[in-house]
Amino acid sequence: MRIKIDPDKCQGHARCYALAPELFSVDDYGYSSVIGDGEVPKELEEKAKLAIDNCPEFAISEVE
Ligand code: SF4
Repeated sequence: MRIKIDPDKCQGHARCYALAPELFSVDDYGYSSVIGDGEVPKELEEKAKLAIDNCPEFAISEVE
């Protein structure tokens, strides 16, 4: 599984970071980006899905 953030949609709530700090980094304004190339280790897939479902801007998506 691989995830990405659409920077045009992200509004900087840092909710994804709060849910899965292993997968996201956040800047001083709360805007997030995926760590590395967005590849999600198997054991963190549930957390990644949680972050996708809880992003209020629908900015996080799974890369097909
Ligand atoms: S939860 Fe969504 S809108 Fe908020 S920082 Fe993360 S990607 Fe951006």
